Amino acid sequence: MKIDILTLFPEMFTGVFGSSILKHAAEKGQVTFNVVDFRNYAENKHRKVDDYPYGGGAGMVLMPQPIFDAVDDLVKDKQTKPRVVLLCPQGERYTQKKAEELAKEEHLILVCGHYEGFDERIREHLVTDEISIGDYVLTGGELGAMVITDSVTRLLPGVLGNETSAVTDSFSTGLLEHPHYTRPADFRGMKVPDVLLSGHHENIKNWRHEQSIERTKKRRPDLLND
Ligand code: SAM
Repeated sequence: MKIDILTLFPEMFTGVFGSSILKHAAEKGQVTFNVVDFRNYAENKHRKVDDYPYGGGAGMVLMPQPIFDAVDDLVKDKQTKPRVVLLCPQGERYTQKKAEELAKEEHLILVCGHYEGFDERIREHLVTDEISIGDYVLTGGELGAMVITDSVTRLLPGVLGNETSAVTDSFSTGLLEHPHYTRPADFRGMKVPDVLLSGHHENIKNWRHEQSIERTKKRRPDLLND
């Protein structure tokens, strides 16, 4: 998979893409990250990418030209059409299901807004999806692009060491995941449940499933109605 990110702040991505599982996935060629500063596409003398809103009002609005041209450049000579995702607090709320859907694509372009927002023609004529990472307003789409990149990359074949670990994660099954314990079996008098030490695989499987259901009922009953 190739993930292009259009942003005015490419330096924000260095730490996230240069660490841990995302770094290893890129090194192994399982994914390619390409962070593009769309200011480079501005046609005016001062490389301006924003302007005052028509009709007046506070804040600056991202102009369509640099973003349309950057996307055109990324898709030229491509056989398949990529998904072009706009990060936007007014978009569809991001879920694990959406991450699974995007992970099936070969090419994603994530567009990060900034300032007051972006010219409406970008939303209407350029993007295929608008995604919000939650009901709050961020200064820019970069953190959202990182959230999408991380959640999609870990679903790509071979990226997680243990192939099954993404399958049992919270939300993938429709439930929250069961609790985990590791050594020691007794820590300051706090004991690991006996069933996990029993070596009885069927009982452990049943206990984990019951725990998943109990947790989901208690913490996220809304998931049980989906
Ligand atoms: N004026 C816009 C509104 O009320 O809908 C908010 C603009 S926000 C300050 C600037 C940029 O941050 C947005 O264009 C978007 O790219 C990004 N952003 C802010 N909140 C977001 C969220 N919850 N999810 C995804 N992107 C977000």
